[in-house]
Amino acid sequence: MDRSTRTKCRRELSIRISREGVVMPSSCTRCQERGIKCVVATRHSKKCAHCVRLGRTCDVEDIASKLHRIHQAEDRIKLEEEAAFEELVRAQERALRVQQEISVAVSRVTRLAQQRVSLKERGDDIMVRGLELLDEMDGEAEASAPADVAVGPAVPNSGSPRPLVDFLVPADNLTVDPADLDIPDEIFQQILASVEGST
Ligand SMILES: [Zn+2]
Ligand SMILES: [Zn+2]
Repeated sequence: MDRSTRTKCRRELSIRISREGVVMPSSCTRCQERGIKCVVATRHSKKCAHCVRLGRTCDVEDIASKLHRIHQAEDRIKLEEEAAFEELVRAQERALRVQQEISVAVSRVTRLAQQRVSLKERGDDIMVRGLELLDEMDGEAEASAPADVAVGPAVPNSGSPRPLVDFLVPADNLTVDPADLDIPDEIFQQILASVEGST
């Protein structure tokens, strides 16, 4: 086969490959350099139409097998990524549950602190009222002291003021159970002591 016949044969083969072949997803080096489609009649040949025409080696199969390995690696990594993402979702769900527990604990601590402050204010009010009452009674006692000496039994016992303890520790306060208020018993006792201490 002389040179011109070989050239003609390569050209016809190239045309046939171009007609019947498939465009490769990744071109051989020569087709890449030329910026043309790399077409291979994959059932009959491993060389592309362009390389057949030139009578040169074609590396499109090497590229295809490299691509195949890359595709396999991509599939494997995609599966691993999906598994990792599911683990991330589960971890986020656990974190959310912990966050909710923290939120509940914070609101409980806040509520108890508010109750403690409120009870302390109530105790302070009662203490102030008790002290004012004591001052009033002391003033009345001083003002009526001379009359007592002169009249003697004219001041009846029934006229004496209510016992101070009635004001300092009202009946409803005595029925308060620290457990009902969610106030630590120690704090409740301190508040009661602050009220009773004023007697
Ligand atoms: Zn090619
Ligand atoms: Zn080629």
